[in-house]
Amino acid sequence: MVTQRAASLHADIGEVLLTPETIAQRVGELGRELAGDYADKRPLVVGTLKGAVVFMADLVRAIEPVPAGLSLEFIRASSYGAGTVSSGKVALGGTLAAADIAGRHVLLVEDIVDSGRTAVALVDHFKAAGAASVKMASLLSKPARRTCAYKPEYLCFEVEDKFVVGYGLDFDEQYRSLPYVGVLRPELYTGFE
Ligand code: 5GP
Ligand code: MG
Ligand code: MG
Repeated sequence: MVTQRAASLHADIGEVLLTPETIAQRVGELGRELAGDYADKRPLVVGTLKGAVVFMADLVRAIEPVPAGLSLEFIRASSYGAGTVSSGKVALGGTLAAADIAGRHVLLVEDIVDSGRTAVALVDHFKAAGAASVKMASLLSKPARRTCAYKPEYLCFEVEDKFVVGYGLDFDEQYRSLPYVGVLRPELYTGFE
């Protein structure tokens, strides 16, 4: 039953770190900052599937006034399997052609920068395709877990080293639609690491 399923999803969250209100306020601020920084840059805003989709939808609507020529694209980036620890390999995929990237000011939109490997792979990919500039806006960052030196130019929140879900972030494809960011109860993923 629908109500029972929703209730059990919320019950899997040990602690809510970021409420919908906290997220909305920070995303609004970042949107205004980006509107200024990209006012005359015809930005190509690229979201990484699937984790950044919820953040991207809110962020792009907060980029106001809308820079002329702003367009949206998506790229697939995967480094995690079903577990909670990165495999170490980053696979990029999607239909974005190098010709569409060349000369554009690319703003990557990410859900979380953890080890930093995905971010570095994305930045390298867009630079190699001839982007005029490549910057990243990330909802979350876990600086304690960085293995590549990388700092997103735009960041909403730093979080401690706990596995988080919600607002686009998943565990085994679940929890993406939760409107907040919360810590998944660790007993739910023991055995996946
Ligand atoms: P990185 O390449 O920086 O190690 O990992 C980036 C990706 O790992 C993120 O885009 C996200 O898919 C996944 N990831 C890292 N930490 C977390 C976390 O705490 N929760 C979730 N759901 N995914 C995470
Ligand atoms: Mg991601
Ligand atoms: Mg994931």
